[in-house]
Amino acid sequence: MKIIQEVQNDLLVLEAPFVKEMMDITYSMWKFGWDERNGGNISYLLKEEEVRHYLDTDRVLRTVPLDFPVVELANKFFIVTGSGKYFKNVRSNPAECLGILRVSGDGNSVELLWGLTCDGKPTSELSSHFRSHIVRLGKDLNHRVIMHNHATNIIAMTFTHELDEKSFSKTLWKMCTECIVVFPEGVAILPWMVPGTDEIGMETADKMNDFRLVVWPHHGIFGAGQTIDEAFGLIETAEKAAQIYMLINAHHGGMKQAITDEQLVELAKAFGVVPNKHFI
Ligand SMILES: [Zn+2]
Repeated sequence: MKIIQEVQNDLLVLEAPFVKEMMDITYSMWKFGWDERNGGNISYLLKEEEVRHYLDTDRVLRTVPLDFPVVELANKFFIVTGSGKYFKNVRSNPAECLGILRVSGDGNSVELLWGLTCDGKPTSELSSHFRSHIVRLGKDLNHRVIMHNHATNIIAMTFTHELDEKSFSKTLWKMCTECIVVFPEGVAILPWMVPGTDEIGMETADKMNDFRLVVWPHHGIFGAGQTIDEAFGLIETAEKAAQIYMLINAHHGGMKQAITDEQLVELAKAFGVVPNKHFI
């Protein structure tokens, strides 16, 4: 009887819109070629009432200690991708690849409420995610999503373009008319660092004070947003611009004309956005 009840509970969780969103977006990102093997990770801040609707939040399956305390996120709920899990497989095996968890009251651990079966662990980039959530929530009360992937052309561009935030951002803005409207603050760039550490987590979060996109050279990109669509759309737009940049560079004729600085200013004015004053 108990087993039947648990199976029914699991089936109910799979009906949750936030679980379906995670299943759909991970598959799309894999299809785009941005999440080979176990590349990429997502964390999505959930409201307690939306979680309660689908599972018993008093039933903690196990506790996973954190080596970076996040008391600022105490008692907050997240759905996250699992460490070592393939985005390709989330859609067919969500309970193994995803986990719903709550940060403990003291911020020293996370309590697993659903998923991450087979003794799975949350993403190895949890420090970058949690620290970035803390910063973005300080900037935007509606912030909810941190997303990381290996967007192909963004990575390619970090080999051929200088790694200066101002010139990198301006190049991206000039590749598609929509870019300055979608990310008027530009993109941040970290120095190359070893991933999965608290150090890269702190550096990424620090950049999130002023940016919603953070490039990790020769590795990938982090995006932040109020929704899965918004975080994904940000990365998608920057990646499209990077793709155009790489196409232009591959073309022997080179660039014949481009969007000018004056036209960028005109765009910002027309769409009511304020571009990063340090960049233009
Ligand atoms: Zn990565």
